[in-house]
Amino acid sequence: MFLVKLKLHWQILIALVLAVVIGYYGGENVKYVAWMGDIFLRLLKMIIIPLIFSSIVSGVTSMGGSKNLGRLGIKTLGYYLTTSLLAIVTGLFLVNLIQPGKGAELGLQQSATAFEQQDPSQLSNIFMRMIPENIFQSLFKGDILSIIFFAVMFGFFINAAKTKYQQSLVTFFDSIFEVMMKMTLFIIRFTPLGILGIVAIEVSKNADQLTDIAGSMAIYMLTVVLALSIHAFITLPVLMKFIGKAKPYKHLKNMVSPLLTAFSTSSSSATLPLTIEAVENDSGVSNKITSFTLPLGATINMDGTALYECVAAMFIAQVYGIDLSFSQQVVVVVTALLASIGAAGIPMAGLVMITIILSAVHLPLEGVGLILAVDRILDMYRTSINVWSDSCGAVIIAKSEGEKTNI
Ligand code: ASP
Repeated sequence: MFLVKLKLHWQILIALVLAVVIGYYGGENVKYVAWMGDIFLRLLKMIIIPLIFSSIVSGVTSMGGSKNLGRLGIKTLGYYLTTSLLAIVTGLFLVNLIQPGKGAELGLQQSATAFEQQDPSQLSNIFMRMIPENIFQSLFKGDILSIIFFAVMFGFFINAAKTKYQQSLVTFFDSIFEVMMKMTLFIIRFTPLGILGIVAIEVSKNADQLTDIAGSMAIYMLTVVLALSIHAFITLPVLMKFIGKAKPYKHLKNMVSPLLTAFSTSSSSATLPLTIEAVENDSGVSNKITSFTLPLGATINMDGTALYECVAAMFIAQVYGIDLSFSQQVVVVVTALLASIGAAGIPMAGLVMITIILSAVHLPLEGVGLILAVDRILDMYRTSINVWSDSCGAVIIAKSEGEKTNI
């Protein structure tokens, strides 16, 4: 009973600690808690599509004309590009400074075969692929970018179509959105139990690997963690304070539950319902802004992933003793940006994307095998940073639109 009265983020923290203990020492018994994680993830996935759709339609209809939508779109994309680039440059600077891969003796042959090359042309197609050929198929497959594209147009034309049912349509989608948010709040209450299940099983699967990470690998991990931390605790708060005129650490406090969920699930998409809830209800950003920026951000704004892609590619080059010239490093920066935009908000999506960068600067694809063992752990932290950046973006844009917010 006492536990249920605690604030949600404390419950989640306790669940995390318990999960590590159960995962590490529980052996076979982990299966008794793993099912809770499965149910929780299914529930989150269940609400994502209707939540995104109703949220965007109701947000866009509340925005009014095309001028507002265009302005918001430009601001949002501007923020995404700027912060992702800042993140990559931070990573690039640290990986050149620390040089975790220099002189490393790592078993280069390990897991060399598991990776297929990603086709770089897929990335340049990303904007084309945003437009659904069949919206029902996209809804069915959960293709979030094309659902967003359709929902924005749909909302826009509800406003433009001056039919006698226009107001009823607006009310209809507003009401669906309200119901989806109620469902979200209900599901969020089970986050601690879900996280207990998810993390316990992950720990039990990876416990052995964790104990023998040493030498270069440990320094590589530290480089990634340090760079991510600088981006999260210095760069983004500075932007928020000086451009957004908001209080970054108050916002961080409001974001604890979604951030811990992102950490545990390694999925920006699965965390989206919690992110929307926290940014709207706790930090006080309007639905007009969150509905547009957060679903889009969860899919294309991945600062943590962008930074990680760059550090990982540079690390692989260092291990193979290949010096990348300045212009090659610029190629790494640009492809890391594209790869982060193209990566889906699901666990380990960033890992496969690294092959795009490796092939762009002619590094051996087998290099991915080197970082495989620790990717899952780093994924937890970079996903939290992805979500943190989305939420900071929503606040900064809301402030720039003259919203009051709570922070
Ligand atoms: N897991 C990350 C996310 O969902 C993507 C990645 O693998 O970097 O945001």
